[in-house]
Amino acid sequence: MRMPNIIKFLVLTIAVFAVFDDAGAEQLPIVTGVRVGLHPDSTRLVFEMDQDIPYKIFTLPDPFRIVIDFPEVSWRVPPSLMKASVGLVSGFRFGLFQPGNSRVVVDINTPAIVAKNFTIPRKGDKPLRFVLDLKPVGRKAFFAGSRGGESKGWAKRRKRPSSIPTPRKSPRGDKRRVIVLDPGHGGVDPGAVGVTGSYEKKITLAVANAAKRVLEQSGRYRVVLTRKRDIYVRLRDRFEIAHNNKAEMFISLHADSIGSRKIRGGSIYTLSDKASDKEAEDLAQKENKSDIIAGADLRGYASEVSRVLIDLAQSDTNRESWHLAKMLIGELRKKIKLLRTSHRYAGFAVLKSPNVPSALIELGYLSNRTDEKNLKSPKYRKAIGRAILRAADRYFARKALNNRS
Ligand SMILES: [Zn+2]
Repeated sequence: MRMPNIIKFLVLTIAVFAVFDDAGAEQLPIVTGVRVGLHPDSTRLVFEMDQDIPYKIFTLPDPFRIVIDFPEVSWRVPPSLMKASVGLVSGFRFGLFQPGNSRVVVDINTPAIVAKNFTIPRKGDKPLRFVLDLKPVGRKAFFAGSRGGESKGWAKRRKRPSSIPTPRKSPRGDKRRVIVLDPGHGGVDPGAVGVTGSYEKKITLAVANAAKRVLEQSGRYRVVLTRKRDIYVRLRDRFEIAHNNKAEMFISLHADSIGSRKIRGGSIYTLSDKASDKEAEDLAQKENKSDIIAGADLRGYASEVSRVLIDLAQSDTNRESWHLAKMLIGELRKKIKLLRTSHRYAGFAVLKSPNVPSALIELGYLSNRTDEKNLKSPKYRKAIGRAILRAADRYFARKALNNRS
């Protein structure tokens, strides 16, 4: 028997998750299914939703991407879709891009546009479907933009304030030092994915929350997080949050994933325009892609942030960052397994703060079962928090001593 040739639909996964993403998600429109399918002359994306919502479609070059923006929605679809490689589509992500704005980023392996998009209303037990047909085009047509454009309601949708927290003034007499913890990735940028499917963006947020609790319980520190929820934050905004809050320390938290499942252990990174080794350089390049992964428009911004030039003004900060890294290694080593070369350096865009000593902790490899299991354990995360606390205490004790002499 021949398959009907109109549709050879590759249903990757449709499942309904009974979990709510974030607080207040109950009122948000719900996406219950996402499919990518191969048709004879197009690649089709289908979103199943509980209601008709406004959208905006556009394309981005370098690398080729199609971006679909929605108002903030609740995603009740499995993460496995991210690995989708069907027809023109080589990758696929979704999540919160900024408050009030959920985003879908579709990686395409050749210039393509949304040639057609339409909505099929709910019928019986079939949910409403938002359908987009992707077709390859020449470079010229690609740069001219997609036909999808935006729906009528897009411009009128409710906008929400920026995700960058306004700096909170310390109450008068508050002598606590400010530490900024930066949970890596978030929202539409999931970061690495673990052997059993855990997300780097969730692990880093959980570690940041645990460390914040430990640091603040000491009474000596006030901790500001660059994000408190599952949302994307631009790399540049992350270190600007440190600057705006007059932080004396910035620690970015990550957990990588690599090809070899055997390798495990954490490492600490500081900024340098010259990488300490090939792995550090590759890692920095990977981490610096966050804005591209999230489908951010970086015109007039990308070259500046990806280029790391360390000028004289930064060398003092760099020296301090070096001490901070050493102390983090000393304390973390007592609690978690570190790689043999535990301190490395490379051009991490997120460490580019000119005046706040900064370090990046790769907490371990999510590609390794033991590291992933550990990082999922609240006890382990608390131990990391304690190590950061002790490192901060030692770092500031040294600083106070130096200032006296
Ligand atoms: Zn990362």
